[in-house]
Amino acid sequence: MINGAPLNLAAVPDSPHAVELQRAQQDLRFSPELEAEYLRIRLLDSRLVIRVTCALAAVLAVARGVEQTATGFPVGGPAIALALVTIASVLLASLAWSSAFERLFLPFARLIVPIRNVVVAGCIAAAAADGQREMLMFLPVLLFGPFFFLGLSYRTALLTSMLTAASFVVHAALSGLALPVALRSIAFLLIALAGCAVAARHLERLSRTSFLETRLISQLAQHDTLTGTKNRRVFDEHLARLWPQAVAERRTIAILLLDVDHFKAYNDYYGHQAGDGCLRQIAECLQSIVRGPLDVLSRYGGEEFVAMLFDVNIGQAMAIADRVRRSVHELGIEHRGSRTSATITISIGVAVIEPSAARTPRGALQLADQALYAAKVSGRNCVRVMNEADYGMLVTGVFTKQPWAEKP
Ligand code: GH3
Ligand code: MG
Ligand code: MG
Repeated sequence: MINGAPLNLAAVPDSPHAVELQRAQQDLRFSPELEAEYLRIRLLDSRLVIRVTCALAAVLAVARGVEQTATGFPVGGPAIALALVTIASVLLASLAWSSAFERLFLPFARLIVPIRNVVVAGCIAAAAADGQREMLMFLPVLLFGPFFFLGLSYRTALLTSMLTAASFVVHAALSGLALPVALRSIAFLLIALAGCAVAARHLERLSRTSFLETRLISQLAQHDTLTGTKNRRVFDEHLARLWPQAVAERRTIAILLLDVDHFKAYNDYYGHQAGDGCLRQIAECLQSIVRGPLDVLSRYGGEEFVAMLFDVNIGQAMAIADRVRRSVHELGIEHRGSRTSATITISIGVAVIEPSAARTPRGALQLADQALYAAKVSGRNCVRVMNEADYGMLVTGVFTKQPWAEKP
């Protein structure tokens, strides 16, 4: 939702985030890949809260140990329990503050927190039975903690808190806690647990929806709404980012400008709606230009597309351009308004250059533009290329001569 209006999910049909958003999230679990991404982001977002909570829990455990030692160290079961809780709390706090936080905290917390809290609940019940009623104050904290302060998912937190509550009930019965105290504590415990679970479930749904929407908004901001290809801003940013890399690594960059032939006549003959459908079909066909994350294809504007290929020579760039030119032709979209072909065709201008300090992305685009113009002049439905030698003719953004006139 943006300002109460639903997001346009049709504009990003292949997005896993859109798929998840369309599903009502009753089970609070995404597909495995997305789930891992969500948990990682949530963990990083709540890093400070987790670190402070774990540090406080460790301090409390150590303080309890010191207090117990001062008042005559317990022996047997209670001593082992206290040692276990202290070790688990210190381990968790160390992990929370270490550089392995992102990688190791969640797997460890999922295992250690339920065990530690179950043991702590037992210790609280035993201490209360022993007359230390103030220890009961820690019970609600023990139940809230896993839901809100440790980056655990709702399911893990619920399981942890249910086990903790059960542990308290069992130990209260075993250690002979006075019945009225036990009943009051258990009633309070169940109410607190139910309230926590409802609130945590609601918050997790909100957090998951917000995670999906944030990612979708960023995808929508990067894509052209009509064709679903990346938009021009993405292209400009991609080119600006890879240009210095190409300079440093002495790699080539190829720019392909692709323009639909006689498209105004297509609109005039078949109508604008049919024109839109045609552009979508062409865009889908052009996607095969992209070979990997270093290449990009965008809608440049109107019926023009632009692609950037990283590290290709002229032969490779020409082969790719000619392949897509042929495949658009082979779509066989009837075009009775065209003067040059019975079906839809595209013309492609290719520029292949080795970026250097003396060259600019703007110059490379201008070169491709000139090559496209040459393709149009040469009769359309063809590919024309400009390269290093032609770059010399580009003086302050204007060509000094018309090379396509010499080599059509
Ligand atoms: P050329 O072969 O020289 O490229 O001729 P052309 O008619 O394709 O070129 P021109 O620049 O004269 O016309 C481009 C047309 O593209 C004009 C416009 O109506 C159409 N067009 C631009 N954007 C869209 C769009 O989003 N949808 C539709 N249906 N048509 C569009
Ligand atoms: Mg055109
Ligand atoms: Mg055009």
